[in-house]
Parts: sequence; structure tokens; C-alpha cells
Amino acid sequence: MKLILLGPPGAGKGTQAESLAKRRGLIQLSTGDMLRAAVKAGTEIGRKAEAVMKSGGLVSDEIVIGIISDRIAEPDCANGFILDGFPRTLKQAAALDELLDSKGTILDAVIELRVDDSALLSRIEKRAADTVAAGGTIRADDNADALKTRLMAYYRETSPLVGYYFAQGKLRTLDGMAPIETVAAKIDELLGTP
Ligand code: AMP
Repeated sequence: MKLILLGPPGAGKGTQAESLAKRRGLIQLSTGDMLRAAVKAGTEIGRKAEAVMKSGGLVSDEIVIGIISDRIAEPDCANGFILDGFPRTLKQAAALDELLDSKGTILDAVIELRVDDSALLSRIEKRAADTVAAGGTIRADDNADALKTRLMAYYRETSPLVGYYFAQGKLRTLDGMAPIETVAAKIDELLGTP
């Protein structure tokens, strides 16, 4: 099964992708996690991405498309994957369609998590507080300033994907304001029995 989780920063894509991946034996592919790992490792991609990520902007299509096409080609993705944070632009979505087409496969569904904008800042603040409480390091972009830029990037670049996937008949929209377990149950309901 090949899925996309779509939604603004703080919508719960990462949380849902992680638990869904476990429940269904799928691989979670988070471009944000991959880029943060590249920044930490100090690779060339990491050096190119670091400042733009910190500000809340989008890393270039070329970089993220390259990362995803390499990762999807790995054998563990053959059984299926959940894309979390990719695609984020129409160009990325078109590149993904081409990539899957070249492998003779298609997307099963795009799950959009709808969340009130007013809830996003408190969710991001909570994530930062939980990370600190667990002894971890706060993400460089989990702050009010970067969130504004991330939200603008979402509305300008990513939200057109809602229409793109609706037109493809792939879009399934869920209420992302519901408790985590309820959203997870709704996802299972719409995907059907594994
Ligand atoms: P995330 O962990 O999904 O919130 O992503 C964190 C940051 O990584 C984003 O704000 C972007 O700077 C960058 N990023 C992650 N995925 C993408 C993508 N598909 N396209 C462009 N930038 C991305």
C-alpha cells in the first residue's frame, strides 16, 4: 500500500504515519526526518538545507525529489510506504507520479488531516515541551516565527495538492482535530482490513 499523509505543520502527520506504519508493516518516509538526519550528519544536502529549514521555508524540489526517489528504490519499500511531508509542491507531486508510474505502480490514497489553524501553534508548542520533558532537543523550526513561515509555505505551495489529488480521485479527508486514537481508527476504517 502506498499512501500520502497531507496536512499543515502540526496536523499530526508524523504521529499518524508512525503508528499506521507499525499497524500495517509499512515504511514511514518522512522527508523532514531525512533532512534533519542530513543536517546532523553534516552532509552536503544537510548543509544546503539547514538554514532554509530553520527559517521554516521549503527545501528545493530537486533535493527532496532526489532523496525520495533514492529511498523508494530501496528493497524495504517494496511492500509499501507512507509518505509524511512529501510531496509539498505540485512539482514534487508530478515527480512522484512519474516515479511510481515508471515502477508500474500507483498511489492507493492521500489522507488529508484537516486541523484548525488556531490549534497549530499550541500543538507545535506542546511538541516542543514534550520533547524537552523527554530529555530531547527541540526542533530548530518549532517556534512561533518559523511556524508562520511554515504555514505560509503550506498555503502557498502545498495546499494546491488537495485539489490535485481530489481530481485524481485519491483524496480522503479526515478531521485531524479529533483525539489521536480516533484519527487512527478513522484511517483504518477508510483503508479497510489489511
Ligand atoms: P517536517 O518535519 O515535515 O515538518 O519538515 C521540516 C522541514 O523540512 C520543512 O519545514 C522544510 O523546510 C523541510 N522539508 C521537509 N519535507 C520537505 C519537502 N517535501 N519539500 C521541501 N521541504 C521539505
